[in-house]
Amino acid sequence: MSWVEELARPEIVALKPYEHASWEPSLERLHANELPWRPAGDESDAGLNRYPEPQPRALLDRLAALYEVPAASVLVGRGSDEAIDLLTRAFCRAGRDAVLVCPPTFGMYSVCARIQGAEVVPVPLRAAEGFALDERTLLERCAAAVKLVFLCSPNNPTGNLLDEAALLRIVRRLAGRALVVVDEAYIEFAGRTSLAHRVAELPNLAILRTLSKAYGLAGARCGALIADPEVIALLRKIIPPYAIPQLTLEAVLQGLRAQALAASRERLTLLLAERQRLITTLPRLARVTRVWPSDANFVLAEFDNAGDALARARGAHLLVRDARGYPGLGRALRITVGTPEQNGRLLEAWG
Ligand SMILES: *Cc1c(COP(=O)(O)O)cnc(C)c1O
Repeated sequence: MSWVEELARPEIVALKPYEHASWEPSLERLHANELPWRPAGDESDAGLNRYPEPQPRALLDRLAALYEVPAASVLVGRGSDEAIDLLTRAFCRAGRDAVLVCPPTFGMYSVCARIQGAEVVPVPLRAAEGFALDERTLLERCAAAVKLVFLCSPNNPTGNLLDEAALLRIVRRLAGRALVVVDEAYIEFAGRTSLAHRVAELPNLAILRTLSKAYGLAGARCGALIADPEVIALLRKIIPPYAIPQLTLEAVLQGLRAQALAASRERLTLLLAERQRLITTLPRLARVTRVWPSDANFVLAEFDNAGDALARARGAHLLVRDARGYPGLGRALRITVGTPEQNGRLLEAWG
């Protein structure tokens, strides 16, 4: 048995997947019970009366090129959230297996674990050291039941990158024992190369990427998992048969054309300048007691009275994220970097 078969739920390894209508675009479709006519007003390329291609080839190839990995290592889903859910369902047996998370971090890892009935093993980041990984405790707490280790870098909501050397040591130490999933939703804002290219040599490493943040396509719902081809093949067995809507496919291919990419690079430069503006200006405000550095498109800040700061932002028609529910962040808010005008209005509301 391969390490993936040993790690995954046996019933998923044994599962015979649903057989969707075959994809043969050169032939006319009388095999999927679709209507032969487009709905009124449908201006999509392929026609919304047709089921979309499962794991669309063009999209896989485009994302593989974007992330510089082989297409066989890419699973595309409705946001990277879908990949988090699929991983948990494929690897964790209810009531027996566990996922390890490092709070304060993105909530979906433990939500998906709970939905699946998997235990959540928390190993907090070290707040006093800029929310660094606690490598030793993590390895100690990685018992046999832990199938997935979720690490978010840059981390949401703290904004910091995790130490790459520590991360890779963890992957190596857990080889064959657990899949280490590094969520790089914000990597484009960090000026650091993705770890995606390391998957080929470290098969128990998996990377989450998304088009929702730096590429400005959150409404299209498209994200990717980059992992060992055997992990990808396993997840393809359980992803819903037509996971990528035709409109998403067309919007993403459009949104990743050279011209669109050049525009998003320019916006990235502006966004990073605005992030710097928030990081330098916020600490000068009397209400702000602390601002953390950020490698992402948001800034975490602590206030003397976070409730009052939330209300003042609202008064300026701006929503910021209440981070007070995260362990150790009792007076913190997470501020997404907006346009120069929006950031200015926020600073004014808090001035
Ligand atoms: C926003 C975000 C995602 C992206 O989710 P999508 O489903 O791809 O929109 C993933 N991970 C983290 C940590 C995020 O903050």
